[in-house]
Amino acid sequence: MQTQVLKPKFHVEECLSEIRECLEKGWTGMGFKTVEFEEAWKKYTSHKYAYYINSNTVGLHLAVNILKMLNHWSDGDEIISTPITFVSTNHAILYENMKPVFADVDEYLCLDPEDVKKKITKKTRAIIFVGYGGRVGKLDEIIKICKENNLKLILDAAHMSGTRVNGIVPGTKEGIDVTVYSYQAVKNLPTGDSGMICWNFEEGDKLSRQIAWLGINKDTYARSNKGTYAWKYDVDYLGYKYNGNAIMAAIGLVQLKYLDEENARRREIVKMYTEGLKNNPKIHIVPANYPDECSYHLFELAVPDREKLLDQMSKLGINCGVHYRDNTEYSMYKYAQGTCPRAHEISEHLITLPLHMWLTDEEVKEIIEHVNEFVK
Ligand SMILES: *Cc1c(COP(=O)(O)O)cnc(C)c1O
Repeated sequence: MQTQVLKPKFHVEECLSEIRECLEKGWTGMGFKTVEFEEAWKKYTSHKYAYYINSNTVGLHLAVNILKMLNHWSDGDEIISTPITFVSTNHAILYENMKPVFADVDEYLCLDPEDVKKKITKKTRAIIFVGYGGRVGKLDEIIKICKENNLKLILDAAHMSGTRVNGIVPGTKEGIDVTVYSYQAVKNLPTGDSGMICWNFEEGDKLSRQIAWLGINKDTYARSNKGTYAWKYDVDYLGYKYNGNAIMAAIGLVQLKYLDEENARRREIVKMYTEGLKNNPKIHIVPANYPDECSYHLFELAVPDREKLLDQMSKLGINCGVHYRDNTEYSMYKYAQGTCPRAHEISEHLITLPLHMWLTDEEVKEIIEHVNEFVK
């Protein structure tokens, strides 16, 4: 058996036909399929606004940039974030000269509301919540904390494409200012690299479109669609080049059609893993609080000797992963070392089992057998 930990499945013929349409039309940049994809995503999620961008990382930066501008935050002001995430989440805060303050995680590996409360200071302006592995954790309590303390709330939904809670997309909940998705190559809705930023108010969406396009206040598509080519535009912000393009959106449009079906298969695999491993006293399975509606981007175990298991499994061709190292271990964030003991402890033991569309039931059973054989 030979397997990667995460492996995208592309619906190749359909993707090629959507891409062909872009190439034949001669429109591969922003507009055309990007607009179609935004509309499809809004319909799928019920988000009021959706702007297609070239990654989740830039979306998180836009979110912090725009909230800082609108709310007159200062350099050095604080945003509470999690140490168990991909570094994008925390870099986004530093890009704007603000300070990531780390709060500890709970049993779902999401921000622990109790510790978040302890980390609030006079300088706290916002919280970034990561829906770890597609889990919602105690997001509702975080929303309440933000309301009570007049903090903005950014949802890093990189893992959450397709997650629902009682049928509702968590990012659409009242109290979340902006939600950012990732369609990076191995996420649940894979493209090449791209993402979506979904604000809950119009001004945020408008500013995103402008700032992600160098600060230019009219985009090319809108201009050429007006019939007369209005070449004149103003530039009133120091913007970035963060927009998504039609080729990636073409892939996204196809992949979106299969997202629910594929997430259902992820849940099936997770169920098999859980059944097969839950009676092993040396294994701790990271739970999800809404397992029937979770996107399960990742399936995680905590085991006593992670390095050994990684090694033993990889010798059999089964490549497991590690998501993520406690960010305060990195040089950039070491000022916060020791502030999140639970996150630190569990991150030393976490291992990600293979979870993707290419796994057969037989392979899942084989993986379970080997894990049980090695961890005892
Ligand atoms: C993948 C990921 C990101 C970054 O997404 P990109 O689209 O690759 O920029 C951010 N946060 C988390 C939690 C991620 O897993």
